[in-house]
Amino acid sequence: MAHFHCDRCGRCCISLGRHISIERKLSSTSHYCRVAVTREIVPVTIHPEYRDLFLNPPPGSTDESWCPYLRHIEEGRFVCTIYPSRPSICRNFSCYSMIIRDSRNAEVGRVSGKDLKSSDAGLVETWEREVATLPAMDKGSWMRMVSGILEKNGYTLEAVV
Ligand code: SF4
Ligand code: SF4
Repeated sequence: MAHFHCDRCGRCCISLGRHISIERKLSSTSHYCRVAVTREIVPVTIHPEYRDLFLNPPPGSTDESWCPYLRHIEEGRFVCTIYPSRPSICRNFSCYSMIIRDSRNAEVGRVSGKDLKSSDAGLVETWEREVATLPAMDKGSWMRMVSGILEKNGYTLEAVV
């Protein structure tokens, strides 16, 4: 089993923006946060390292449609300014559930649901030819089938926890 690694691309936080709001401010850096999807209200604290970034966001580092705790720090990179106290919905979220490695054990693809993200042309071609065309089946059978197909083509599939 592989461990989930967040690349901090911000995609999930941007889309979660409409579900997360600041319910009440106890101070400028200590809030109650409302999570609309789970109907939770959770205490959160702005991490000391990100206080200035949160309170005085540079132009372009935030957007009213994003999660209010998200800040854009550089091209393709975001930070959650409440990361240690973030709500459970964020803690439990993984944007992919399996990784694919090549024969040198290098990660070459990620699978979310039944969708592949990869820049390995051979893997993409194998996936489109043999995996995307599989008939509907339960998840366990699908994983076994996909694992067999990938192994035959020199790749291995690993579940992510
Ligand atoms: S969980 Fe996934 S989508 Fe969300 S920021 Fe991390 S890498 Fe991006
Ligand atoms: S609280 Fe943090 S992890 Fe959760 S959506 Fe907002 S920025 Fe992302």
